[in-house]
Amino acid sequence: MKLRIAVIPGDGIGKEVVAEGLKVLKKLEELSRVSFEFKEYPFGAEHYLKTGETLPDWAIEEFKKFDAIYFGAIGDPRVKPGILERGILLKMRFELDLYVNLRPVKLYHPRLTPLKGKNKIDIVFVRENTEGLYAGAGGFLRKGTPQEIAVQEMINTRFGVERVIRFAFEYAKRSGRKKVTLVDKANVLTYAHDLWERVFAEVSQEYDLETDHYYVDAMAMKMIRSPESFDVVVTPNMFGDILTDLGAEIVGGLGIAASGNINPETTGMFEPVHGSAPDIAGKRIANPLAAILSASMMLEYLNLEKESKWIEEAVKRAIAENKVTPDMNGNLKTYEVGDWVVKFLEVVA
Ligand code: ATP
Ligand code: MG
Repeated sequence: MKLRIAVIPGDGIGKEVVAEGLKVLKKLEELSRVSFEFKEYPFGAEHYLKTGETLPDWAIEEFKKFDAIYFGAIGDPRVKPGILERGILLKMRFELDLYVNLRPVKLYHPRLTPLKGKNKIDIVFVRENTEGLYAGAGGFLRKGTPQEIAVQEMINTRFGVERVIRFAFEYAKRSGRKKVTLVDKANVLTYAHDLWERVFAEVSQEYDLETDHYYVDAMAMKMIRSPESFDVVVTPNMFGDILTDLGAEIVGGLGIAASGNINPETTGMFEPVHGSAPDIAGKRIANPLAAILSASMMLEYLNLEKESKWIEEAVKRAIAENKVTPDMNGNLKTYEVGDWVVKFLEVVA
């Protein structure tokens, strides 16, 4: 089976970690019947500074013909914040209508959590990815004056809320999980999140799954106190953004946080949660495990369950044997960690 993957390494450590992910995928070709055709795209800060182009429409059209997109990270101190995020990352999410941001929070080894006595954390966040406070609706009144008013509107459509909640239940069912938790702030956001609660109650009727509910502030507390009590969590865009950074931190940090941007009808995009990390770019100390685990998620999404698991197992071995970068208290370089994962892949495959 040949899979066509569009690759956007991007900026900073994005390039460094994607190289390791590709190394692992290429090894997989030797070990299984899967084969890949990779096509690399240059979009990112360098390309923008040279050409003024962020992500052209033709590229979006081209991406639609791929099986998946493998993305590193974008961002550069020389480019004003927002330009690349809106021009590339958000453009891709919106144009490809990638309404689910799937972010696992999984503890691969007890030593990775700062939480005392916690050794079982396995949560999957289903973050809404195209609406909420990220829809870009709003504007300024009397901009630049002392009376300035900046309005950022939170968009919640019945259609958008229902499809992401339904995805969460379907995902839970398909992956043998037991419970779906809704996180919102309906006690304050009395219109927007009232809609979320009503739709959640409605959709949950169709599934034989346990449900529960937390307001986002209580959730932040509960994730520290008893992270083992969560399974699948569905939440609006911004809460998902914030809670998954917290989630990353309780299982080993941004260096191993993977994600998928998904719409079952279109081409999915898989990327590490972290950004381009200009502070460590070029030092060869970036942790490639988030990017490698994102590749594993990509394969799972493409129905290559077995191959996806192999990669995850290989990563687990690398962590268990401390073949990791300094952010995880190891002393290896980025490419050395990639080499070890490849070595363990040969063992587990
Ligand atoms: P962005 O705005 O693109 O999300 P950011 O400024 O939030 O970027 P990140 O790149 O997400 O920053 O990372 C924050 C910090 O965490 C980095 O500066 C870096 O020190 C650390 N970090 C992030 N990713 C990794 C990684 N893969 N390996 C090691 N350290 C990392
Ligand atoms: Mg960030």
